[in-house]
Amino acid sequence: MARPLAEWPTRPRILVTNDDGVESRGLLALAQALRPIGDVYVVAPDTNQSAVGRQKTLMRPLRVRERTLADGSAAWSVDGSPTDAVSLAFLGFFDVGFDLVASGINYGANLGDDVTYSGTVSAAMEAVINDCPAFAISQEYYEHPDFTLAGRMARLTAVNILENGLAPGELININVPDLRLSEYHGIEVTRMGKRIYQDQLIERLDPRGIPYYWIGGPPPSGLAKPGTDFDAVVNHRIAVTPIQLDLTARRLLTRLKSWPWDLDASPDPPGSAPVEVPAEEPG
Ligand code: MN
Repeated sequence: MARPLAEWPTRPRILVTNDDGVESRGLLALAQALRPIGDVYVVAPDTNQSAVGRQKTLMRPLRVRERTLADGSAAWSVDGSPTDAVSLAFLGFFDVGFDLVASGINYGANLGDDVTYSGTVSAAMEAVINDCPAFAISQEYYEHPDFTLAGRMARLTAVNILENGLAPGELININVPDLRLSEYHGIEVTRMGKRIYQDQLIERLDPRGIPYYWIGGPPPSGLAKPGTDFDAVVNHRIAVTPIQLDLTARRLLTRLKSWPWDLDASPDPPGSAPVEVPAEEPG
């Protein structure tokens, strides 16, 4: 049941956010790409919040500042996570509702298992929690990314979602290779691939001789299986991956039903101490 944008009674309202921070060129590129099709509101973290996942700030207040993007347009920054930024918008900060949330354009791909860390994707998930369709868009980059291709893809994705809709719980994760419009090899609808992380635990000494640790190492690789997001981007295609908030493992659900879930039939092993923790207030 597609509804062309030309038949919409009003322009769609689009919330734009990211995890790289309000000063990111990728955020500006995304806002600029979407302005021709809707009324764009920008709210983003005030600092780089990459890989914070679904972090939500509960134990301290959030401060919001009005900002001016590099093209002179207005935006707001939050001293919290991408999830906080989207949450503010849906809890009434702008006094309007939204038809779509777009998150990105992230510096660096969010392929396969990256999704589980990604603040970019997490922001889109927060929209879905609030029953609003959303997509995340990320771009591979090496030096100074050119967002021309990703901007075009962002606009196409936005129009497609607005016109065709997403079901509750669904979102789209877009990954764009770092190529010019004349160089990329098309668009592929993919599934999530498998990342191979090459993280290393770097141990150094601080000025007082106390060791500290830093998770570093080369960037992740991945399994180039056909049909995956990783394979598409490696082969110069834009990956369009449908994802959902329902993380239920369907095959395991079936298997688990055949396991013995009977506490009475599972007595404590001989000599085991009872679990007895002191009562306390929740921290
Ligand atoms: Mn990022």
